[in-house]
Amino acid sequence: MRMLIMGPPGAGKGTQAKGIAERYSIPAVSTGDIFRANVSQGTPLGLEVKRIMAEGGYVGDDVTNAIVADRLGEPDAREGFLLDGYPRTLGQVEALDALLADRQQALDAVIVLRADTDELVTRLLKRAHTDGREDDTEEAIRVRQATYAAETAPLLDVYRDRGLLVEVDGLGGVDEVGERIAAGLDAR
Ligand code: ADP
Repeated sequence: MRMLIMGPPGAGKGTQAKGIAERYSIPAVSTGDIFRANVSQGTPLGLEVKRIMAEGGYVGDDVTNAIVADRLGEPDAREGFLLDGYPRTLGQVEALDALLADRQQALDAVIVLRADTDELVTRLLKRAHTDGREDDTEEAIRVRQATYAAETAPLLDVYRDRGLLVEVDGLGGVDEVGERIAAGLDAR
């Protein structure tokens, strides 16, 4: 299985991605996690992306595409994977298309978690507070939601046109949402 999971920041992609990856025995690849690991290790890439991430913007396509191509080239991702947080721009969609064409592979499904923006901002503010993530200011959280709406939400149409979308209501308990995703994938 080769899948994507998309949806606005705070919709629970990372949590659900872990469950789906386990179920299908494929690696969950999160670009956000890869960037965060680089930031916390202080690598050159981390230094480059730290500020962009704190402000809620997107890391450049060239850097992001290279990181994904690299990760998908590892043995565990050769046959299947679940991408979480990528692609986020049209340039990234095109880069992924080219990468998969090169590997003579195709996507099987694109899972979309739907959620209301105000609900998400409330959720993320709570998380920022309890986890002590000071870079998660209300301003940065709102910028991230707006960036998603402007740059990433339109990409759903591309995958809808290809008949790949599995849309799921992202509000509810972790298990509840997980079951909706499983049912949606089974129905395909
Ligand atoms: P969230 O779900 O809150 O958006 P992520 O962990 O997916 O969090 O991403 C955190 C940050 O990492 C993003 O706000 C962005 O700055 C950067 N990032 C992650 N994935 C990408 C991507 N595909 N393209 C550009 N920037 C990305």
